Amino acid sequence: MIATGNDEFSQTLAERIGQFIIDADANSARTMQKAIGPSEVGEPCERQLAYKILDWPESNDARDPIAAIIGTGFHLWIGERFEARNEALGGTRYKVETRVTVRDSPIETARLTGSADLYDRLIRANLDWKLVGASSHDKYRRQGPGEKYRIQAHLYGLGQENAGEHVDRVVIVFIARYHELKVHVWSEAYNRQIALDALARLDRIRDQVMALDPESHPERWQQFAIPEKPNCRFCAYLKPGSSDLSQGCPGVQSSNPGASLQALIA
Ligand code: SF4
Repeated sequence: MIATGNDEFSQTLAERIGQFIIDADANSARTMQKAIGPSEVGEPCERQLAYKILDWPESNDARDPIAAIIGTGFHLWIGERFEARNEALGGTRYKVETRVTVRDSPIETARLTGSADLYDRLIRANLDWKLVGASSHDKYRRQGPGEKYRIQAHLYGLGQENAGEHVDRVVIVFIARYHELKVHVWSEAYNRQIALDALARLDRIRDQVMALDPESHPERWQQFAIPEKPNCRFCAYLKPGSSDLSQGCPGVQSSNPGASLQALIA
């Protein structure tokens, strides 16, 4: 958080408002969500998923919530607009912010549900809104959505299919947080196998968590694979400098070879 004011009163007020936003977000449904959701299944870092599977205490208190808060606000706004448009069109074309079951199971930890942003029955497509920074918007336009978002898109496709819809395409709509409207659409044909493979990977990691039992054997945290370039900055379990993975992960910083080495040997 950066809080500034033009005098002492304003400075104090800025700090209090900033802290109010941080505290309110920490108690929001989005932040309190414990179960793994479709947005997390494709996470490339298996160590991060292992922490999440065990509902491990989060160690990264430096994460700034504002991007997610703005994203939530945009989802609410555009959801209302599509609800109104749906009504005007007779009420059957769009499904807005619907709960979908990606995989049902009597075993609670194997069940996967989520909230799908928009399904359009006319084009038989599931759409996912992503509000991103301007530089990320450019990156997604040039390089595509990356595996994590791609897997999420197909998991929602499977959820819509399980809800009885005929899904042809999965779509991600990238909108930049920028002073002018920038919209980039990525889409591809829905492929159920991409979703099933992602679920099988998650099951394998969950089995590994049970077999290794890092809760009782903290040294085994290191056995969970981390990718070559993990996205540590936004990881809830980042703890820079940590040499005890049960307290948090030191992460990998490509600009700091020492930190990279530390993460690899931790
Ligand atoms: S800090 Fe980085 S390496 Fe460690 S669990 Fe998180 S994403 Fe993986």
